[in-house]
Amino acid sequence: MKYDLTSFFDGDEYAYKLEGEIYEVPALDSGHIIDPIKYNGKIYKVDGSSELHVDIQYKYEDECSRCLKPTTRVYNTVLSGKLMTNKGKYNDEDESEEIIFYEDGHLNLEEYIWSHVVSSLPMKTLCSNDCKGLCPNCGIDLNYQSCNCMGNTIDPRLEKLKELFPKK
Ligand SMILES: [Zn+2]
Ligand SMILES: [Zn+2]
Repeated sequence: MKYDLTSFFDGDEYAYKLEGEIYEVPALDSGHIIDPIKYNGKIYKVDGSSELHVDIQYKYEDECSRCLKPTTRVYNTVLSGKLMTNKGKYNDEDESEEIIFYEDGHLNLEEYIWSHVVSSLPMKTLCSNDCKGLCPNCGIDLNYQSCNCMGNTIDPRLEKLKELFPKK
């Protein structure tokens, strides 16, 4: 979705509404995003420049990193930054703020939302915070069954260590 901002920049309105759903989602190395990505936000005119603030919501499916069960969760993230045109003239004046570029009055918001979603993906997915995971020895799902490999009381610190050395 490309937004034509020319009449907003020329006009008197101080805010421009951005809202929609994106059905084309980026391919990922691990897991996948389930469409649509939803977004809702505004561009504001502030002191002669423009600021963008967009709330983003997406669904992400990945394997639980402990028990490998496919797990889908909803995540929220915020894309915000300063709108600027003309990449060439930009000279790192204010590095603390994200810069969002537009060209000839047109903003390709979808691209920014994609890259923001990809960079906000969780490092690991858990089906639940107290998922017991798989037994590192026999592979049984300890959420549903128990085994006698290590006795039934595994020191959680030991379990962590086992995760570092996956079985062959
Ligand atoms: Zn799990
Ligand atoms: Zn076992």
